[in-house]
This record gives sequence, C-alpha cells and structure tokens, in this order.
Amino acid sequence: MRYHNTYVKLDTRLYNRQLPTPLNNPRAGHFNTQVAEQLGWADDDDLMARWVEIIGGHYVPTEFAPLSMAYAGHQFGQWAGQLGDGRGLLMAQVIDNNDQLQDLHLKGSGLTPYSRMGDGRAVLRSTIREYLCGHALINLGIPSSNALGFVVSDTPVRRERIEAGAAMMRVADSHIRLGHVEWIASFAPDLLGEFTDYMIDTYYPECRDSASPVLAFLESVVTRTARMIADWQLIGFAHGVMNTDNLSITGSTLDFGPFGFMERFNPAWINNHSDHSGRYAFQNQPAIGHWNMNTWLPHFMRLTQAGVTRDSLADCLSVYEPTFMQHYQIGLCQKLGLPHQSASLTLAFEFLTLLEDNLLDYTNSFRSLLALVAPTDFPYEQQLLETMLTELNAEALEVWQDWSTRYLTFIGQQIHLTKQQTIESMRTNNPVYVLRNSMAQHAIDAAEQGQFEEVARLFELLSTPYIVQDIATDLDSRPPMPNAPQLPISCSS
Ligand code: AMP
Ligand code: MG
Ligand code: MG
Repeated sequence: MRYHNTYVKLDTRLYNRQLPTPLNNPRAGHFNTQVAEQLGWADDDDLMARWVEIIGGHYVPTEFAPLSMAYAGHQFGQWAGQLGDGRGLLMAQVIDNNDQLQDLHLKGSGLTPYSRMGDGRAVLRSTIREYLCGHALINLGIPSSNALGFVVSDTPVRRERIEAGAAMMRVADSHIRLGHVEWIASFAPDLLGEFTDYMIDTYYPECRDSASPVLAFLESVVTRTARMIADWQLIGFAHGVMNTDNLSITGSTLDFGPFGFMERFNPAWINNHSDHSGRYAFQNQPAIGHWNMNTWLPHFMRLTQAGVTRDSLADCLSVYEPTFMQHYQIGLCQKLGLPHQSASLTLAFEFLTLLEDNLLDYTNSFRSLLALVAPTDFPYEQQLLETMLTELNAEALEVWQDWSTRYLTFIGQQIHLTKQQTIESMRTNNPVYVLRNSMAQHAIDAAEQGQFEEVARLFELLSTPYIVQDIATDLDSRPPMPNAPQLPISCSS
C-alpha cells in the first residue's frame, strides 16, 4: 500500500495517538476483495493473511499510525461540545489505485479519551448494517464511505441486551467532519488557519487556483453537500442522524446508524426510533443540510485575512439551494427518462403524489415504469407493475390511467431523447435493489447465529443494484405490508 499518513503530522491537540484494544477471538465476517485491490491492500501478503487480526485489533502493521480524532458537534440541533472518535481510530491513510487519498478507520476498536460514557465498542448488527449500506450506496452511485471488511468476536457488549462485539475497517475519502472545525473553534481557535489549509490542500487542491482559496473551498463543501443530499432524496435514502459530527467535509455519506431506504412512500417518514421530533425525517434532509452549513460556515469568520466576510459567507451558503434543486430536478427527470423540462417535473411530482396517496413502494414503482415504456423487454418490471396495480383502488386506478397515458404521450412527443436513451436513463437511475431494513435484519439474524452467507449474498446483490439478478429472493423486492409497524432502528449501536 502507498501510505500517506498526514493527519498525524498536524498539531497534537487534534488527536490522541493510541492502539486499538483487541477483541476476544475475532473471526471473519466479510471481506471486500474489490476494496482490498483498490487500496493496494491485496498486493501485500502480510495484510491479506492477517486482516482478521488487524480488524480484531490484535496486530497493527508498522506503517500504520493509529490515532483517535477530536471533534465536536451539534446533535439534534443542540451544541454538544466535545465528542471525538469514541470507538474508532484512524489507522492509516493511503493513496489508492485511482490516486485518491483514503482513510482506513477501525470502528469498534475500544476506549479512547473521547469515549465519554460509551464502551468504545460496536455490535454486530450495526456493523453489518453500516457495512452493507456503504457498499450499497457506492454501487448506487452515491458518494459514501465503504469498508474493507468486518469481524465478529466473543467480546460481550451491553446494549438493551448483551451482544457480540464487532469491528469494521471503514474506508472513506476523509474522516474530517463539520464537527472538526466546530471543535477547533471552541477549543483551539489558533489552529483554524493551519487546519483549513490542510483541508484545502488535501481535499480541495483545485481551490488553490481561486482568488480566495478559503471561500472557494467553503463553496465547494456547500455544493458537494447539496448534491449528496439530492442523491439521497432521489434514491430514497434517510440518513437518520444528520448531526454536524456525522457529515463529512467531502460531501460523502458517513456514519450510518439509524439509516433506512424508503419503501412505501411517505415523505414524513422517520426511520430513527430516537428522533421523536422528526428533525431527521426524510423530507427534512435538504433543509437540515442547509441548517448544518449555516451553523458551520460562520466559524470561518476568523479568517478575515483570507478574504472571509459575513457577506462572502452568505454568498457561499446561497449556493446550497439552487445546487440542490438543480441536481434533484435533473435526477427526477432522469428517473422518468424525460428531458429536463418543467413539463417533466410536473409529471414527476404527480407520480410522487400517486405513490404517497397509495403508500406504494418507492423503489419498485419507479422501476416498474420500464414495463410501461417497453412492455415486452422487461418481464421482472412487468411483474412489479402488475403488483403495483393490484394495490390501487378504483379511484386510484383512474388517476394512474390518466397519468400513465399522459406520461407515454409525453415520451412520444418530446424530441430530446430517443426511446433507447429514455430506457437507458430509467434503467440506470432506478435501482432494482436497495438495502431494505427487512433484508438487513434477515442477514443480521443469521449472522448472530454465526452464519454469514446471507451477508455475502446481500453484498453480491448490492454490488450491481441496477440489474435484475438470479440470486435475489422475493424478500429483496418486497415492501412491508401497508401500515405494518416499523422495525425499530435506534441510535444504540
Ligand atoms: P454517533 O451517534 O454514532 O455518530 O456517535 C456520536 C458520538 O458518540 C461520537 O463521538 C461517537 O464516537 C460516540 N459513541 C457512540 N457510541 C459509542 C460507544 N459505544 N463508545 C464510545 N463512544 C461512542
Ligand atoms: Mg494529543
Ligand atoms: Mg458519528
């Protein structure tokens, strides 16, 4: 591997150098060979032979430079003060095969100075959920952390019950959160300039060409965050805990806890059982992204010598909404295979209303439109369409008939896309598979009995989520019954 441990060269107040605490008897859960190849991990026989020991905290290669990071954050809208890596360590930074810097971060690695009341551990169920979700998002085409592999162990961890301790080697382009800057602003303001330079040089080097690199950097963070959240809304992803300590400065999805993928369409859906006010409800995500940026940007007011003023920060923030809207609207049109026009958007919003009014499955309903556009070429989608129609009452069927007729007429009349382009756009923007909570739960139940085949199967299924696959079961595309109680997904993990 091409090691590039740079965080460890920053001011020592920003982190604590330390080793992981070994788990008892770590055993392989799953290993991502593709990520191993991407990282150059696969080229090192020692790393390949000893990955379970490494993730289990028993062996730290000499080139690693493990440390826990200090950060702070706003949790559920309230200033929470110092947080930090309470159960994870940045183990190493490496340059991957695409010349992209990647962090190797061991989650579940034991106590750190930032553990507060926690035990420093992660349990198997949340580890599997995070492992599969990062993999799913990446292959859906959404910027996200990923993982190299995970282990389970005999270390007991107390949550609502005693569970098996697990650990995962997370791989992300950065582990710097908005909360890192919040920590610096509160506890080490003299470091802000140096840290901002580090963020720019490491993650946004193109901003150096700008007249004000700091402002260009901030505007880029706002832009990437807005795009990421538009991607979430389009695919139906609810992050669940958009605290400022869980948002990366690179606009990559990070820190999965009570996340979920939309099933029966309900914009007000709250997946996080602990989110009583619905702050992080699905439909609130775009506004919360804006709230986070608005909370974060003023910390840079200190950098007046870098051209930062109240007005220039307001200009950075003002980029958020149009960026989100543009990305979201283009994406919606692509899902319907339509050109980016207001008439297309009208059809898209009517379709979303139809889904909402009838509690139809978000993923399946969008995918089923392929069978409408090309009836003979998509047998799987034809099935989805038939299932969807059985869920509509007479009145809703009329709405559907009217909508689908206008939709097909519009496709026929518009001159911007060929039929083939329309189908291609629909096929590559509407997944067949997402990680439904029930799917993850099924794999977790088996894994808790020591069986990891279902994790491996879901991993494979989610590797190509836009393609119908033989290894799929009916459960992989079945939403819960309408109004069925939700699986409780909490922050306790
Ligand atoms: P999260 O809600 O998982 O994003 O975590 C919020 C903060 O709590 C972070 O500083 C975590 O490192 C810390 N934390 C969460 N769970 C634990 C745990 N079991 N032990 C120690 N710290 C934890
Ligand atoms: Mg220190
Ligand atoms: Mg977190």
